Amino acid sequence: MIKMENVGKTYPKGVKALRDMSVSIEAGEFVYIIGASGSGKSTFAKLIIREEKMTKGKMTVCGFDLAKIKSKDIPKLRRQIGVVFQDYRLLKNRTVFENISYALEVIGTNPEEIKARVIEVLIQVELEDKADQKPTELSGGEQQRVGIARAIANKPKVLIADEPTGNLDPKTALEIMRLFYRINLTGTTIIMVTHNLAIVNKVHNRVIEIKNGALVDDKCKNNGSLQYDYSSGDYIFI
Ligand code: ADP
Ligand code: MG
Repeated sequence: MIKMENVGKTYPKGVKALRDMSVSIEAGEFVYIIGASGSGKSTFAKLIIREEKMTKGKMTVCGFDLAKIKSKDIPKLRRQIGVVFQDYRLLKNRTVFENISYALEVIGTNPEEIKARVIEVLIQVELEDKADQKPTELSGGEQQRVGIARAIANKPKVLIADEPTGNLDPKTALEIMRLFYRINLTGTTIIMVTHNLAIVNKVHNRVIEIKNGALVDDKCKNNGSLQYDYSSGDYIFI
């Protein structure tokens, strides 16, 4: 799904944000990206969605060779990838419904399909009763759920979240994490950039650690990080 070979990224003024990064992420994986502030995590995410260009190496994402990709194909690449931000990035003057429908309008989905799909994702993030509210009328956790609904509306193959729980309290953060796990169970590849070691230390997924732009650790201990708890009817971390 995503393959980097000796990828480097040097920003115009000479900051080496990533160096010699080689990593492969397969379809359906749930991968955490951790590292101190300034280590290159967001740059890693930005290279994948082609918000930034690598300056060295080889990279393929969803079948696109990013060294050779044409400008006209970049929207096609981005349609395969949903993005969730720490600060939600919702349109303040639009309702929850419109924030999600807008993402589908811009890619030319027909209006009936849009309506059905928006309702579907609102149910998935448990916000169907908030469709007509504005973002300012929602809690941070609810706003992030809108952000996630918007990101998955187009059924992307990959979902990249850059510190999605960074502005949330621990309980709300855990609810948001459970949502990502449920989305992963539908087959979507999840790449989660996080500072939240309280969560990362509890789960058993693959964790890629970046330090000063280099990959320093890539542990895969993917064996049942999440279980279904029949008494609460929800997924729990073990
Ligand atoms: P993280 O997300 O881990 O905090 P970033 O990928 O944002 O790290 O940044 C990695 C390094 O690249 C930092 O030194 C940062 O200052 C630098 N950097 C990030 N974006 C830019 C940019 N657009 N221009 C120049 N330097 C940048
Ligand atoms: Mg960052």
